Amino acid sequence: MPIRAALVALVRNSDLNGIRSTIRQIDDRFNRNYNYPYILLNDKNFTEEFKEGIYAITKAPVQFGTLPDDHWGLSPYVTEEKVNSALEYNKNRYIYGGSYSYRLMCRYQSGFIHKHPLLQDLDYYWRIEPDVDYLCDIPYDPFRYMRDNGLMYGYTISPMEISKTVETLWDTTREWILKNQDLLPDESFIHWIVNEKGVYTRCHFWSNFEIVDLSLYRSEAYESYFQHLDRAGGFFYERWGDAPVHSIAAALLLRKEQIHWFEDIGYHHPGIWHCPDKPEMAARCVCKNPAGYMYRSICNRRFGEVNDIPKSQALLLAQM
Ligand code: GDP
Ligand code: MN
Repeated sequence: MPIRAALVALVRNSDLNGIRSTIRQIDDRFNRNYNYPYILLNDKNFTEEFKEGIYAITKAPVQFGTLPDDHWGLSPYVTEEKVNSALEYNKNRYIYGGSYSYRLMCRYQSGFIHKHPLLQDLDYYWRIEPDVDYLCDIPYDPFRYMRDNGLMYGYTISPMEISKTVETLWDTTREWILKNQDLLPDESFIHWIVNEKGVYTRCHFWSNFEIVDLSLYRSEAYESYFQHLDRAGGFFYERWGDAPVHSIAAALLLRKEQIHWFEDIGYHHPGIWHCPDKPEMAARCVCKNPAGYMYRSICNRRFGEVNDIPKSQALLLAQM
């Protein structure tokens, strides 16, 4: 059975060069053998120049989409006045602290991208971004690997979130957990996100690369969780990213065996990279930077160390 999957990016017209570079690398490293479609989404209309620039770089099918109006915008639960003062307050506190459009992007990628009509018939998406590098040959089909192994979520980089961007994210999550106990699975990987003292670890999967079985985001539990977060206003009053939101949801709703570290997919996004250090993996890569970061990353190591816990214990952690 063919796999219904695509490589998906949200981009601006100004990202043409950056996404051309990414697509070229993915084609060279993997997709020239598979021809999975690229789906490019934009809150504005794509220019002809943009489309031509993409058609010129890949032989794979490409679909361009704009966003349904009600998917991109201010949450109905926040007020403009409070958002403006939050932007002012946070502008020098952290990166993108004063950016309104960045917040729209994070809210979109958290709550709406999986509802885009062009993704309707997909079972999996692989999220890609402009200006990233794929450092290693990928001599197999990661989508098939996900399917054959019953995987729901795949990542390559796992850092720790900047605390000031998520000051109330865990407290808001705890409220949701305690109010929606019936939506929780019997066992989950939540201990990766919250330690034995009930403290949020800020561990997350860097969602600029993620390969996901979309039934995770389409689930009743995920939608309920997103709605709860949206109501709390933190996408705007703070700067909750789609990475910590997706990651908390994955840890809360999945078991460890459903989550996979693609250690062999060397990857660079401005700021952080992952180069595999195992000789059989490293042989397929061109890494200008040393291997290392992901082997030292506290969160990636925690991923290896912690295990699933039963729902009763998850509830106790949420009550602390
Ligand atoms: P960072 O990785 O957190 O530094 O954020 P990026 O600037 O890379 O943005 C994440 C993704 O969202 C990239 O694919 C961007 O092209 C896209 N993006 C960010 N802001 C906008 C926006 O205002 N409109 C659109 N269409 N895409 C955006
Ligand atoms: Mn980026």
